[in-house]
Amino acid sequence: MKPPPFEYRAPRTTEEALHALAQGEAKVLAGGQSLIPLLNMRLAAPARLVDINGLAELDTVRATAEGVRVGALARHARVERDAAAAEAQPLLRQALRHVAHPVIRNRGTVVGSLAHADPAAELPAVLAVLGGTVEAVSARGSRTIPAAGFFAGPLESSLREDELAVSAFFPAASRLTGTAFTETARRHGDYALAGVAAVVTLDDDLRVAAARAGYLSVGGTPVVLDLTGPAASAVRTGDWAEAAAYAAERLDPGGDVHASAEYRRHLAGVLTGRALRAAAADALSRED
Ligand code: FAD
Repeated sequence: MKPPPFEYRAPRTTEEALHALAQGEAKVLAGGQSLIPLLNMRLAAPARLVDINGLAELDTVRATAEGVRVGALARHARVERDAAAAEAQPLLRQALRHVAHPVIRNRGTVVGSLAHADPAAELPAVLAVLGGTVEAVSARGSRTIPAAGFFAGPLESSLREDELAVSAFFPAASRLTGTAFTETARRHGDYALAGVAAVVTLDDDLRVAAARAGYLSVGGTPVVLDLTGPAASAVRTGDWAEAAAYAAERLDPGGDVHASAEYRRHLAGVLTGRALRAAAADALSRED
């Protein structure tokens, strides 16, 4: 199918882009890996597209001791390959390897994936479990949106119609913190039936001081669980089953043609145990 008619704008500066968005009924075009199929299937019909691919100032990846700030035009592949970003927050690279296929990662953007707010996508779960933020600007001003308030529902973010998400910030991993990402998909590169991004922090006695898991494909938005209690003694015992069972009990996934709700719940529990174990091993490997 072909898209419905739209006016095409290709601003050369962020100010021009904000001016075009302020006129209403507009959609930002970034990598187009999600928006173009939606247009072609006529599931979206904006009056105008504001193509941000000419805004070189948004093509940035900056890693510091505080975290990684990814500009709106940074493609998945660039962030995946950025060594400083992987050093500051390894979960980014760990998750990006599961996003679609290399061809799509060459074009799709990290910020576009967040703005698209697909509950089956990897990066929203990563932003949520890390407690990251999205920086949004409009002709009216700018605001920082915490991950907890960013994802409003399936394919729905809290970005307003005239707002451009200019960057996303992923906080750095602290000392003795390990991360892991795991998911199950029918075929490599497909959207996952369920997936888990895990972050485990150990104390100086190498006990679990904090354990969090962010989930994809188990609800209308990313779900984050605090698993510190049920994981407390797991490093010593090597048994992550309690944390896995705790997670499975608390998740409430839906069923569809790809998997029943019960199968998804079971899968998310199994993946929780695997991800936490791997994150704890990663944390142990960071011991001085
Ligand atoms: P676009 O398609 O350009 O935009 C998507 C939406 O976000 C639009 O509504 C757009 O207006 C809005 N938007 C984009 N950027 C901004 C911004 N800066 N400010 C405000 N709004 C903005 N993704 C996964 O996570 N996991 C997968 O396994 C996966 N598999 C895929 C398989 C296929 C075959 C394809 C085609 C895509 C797949 N994707 C997957 C989607 C891909 O990762 C997209 O790149 C991503 O979801 C959106 O990024 P984009 O830059 O292409 O955004």
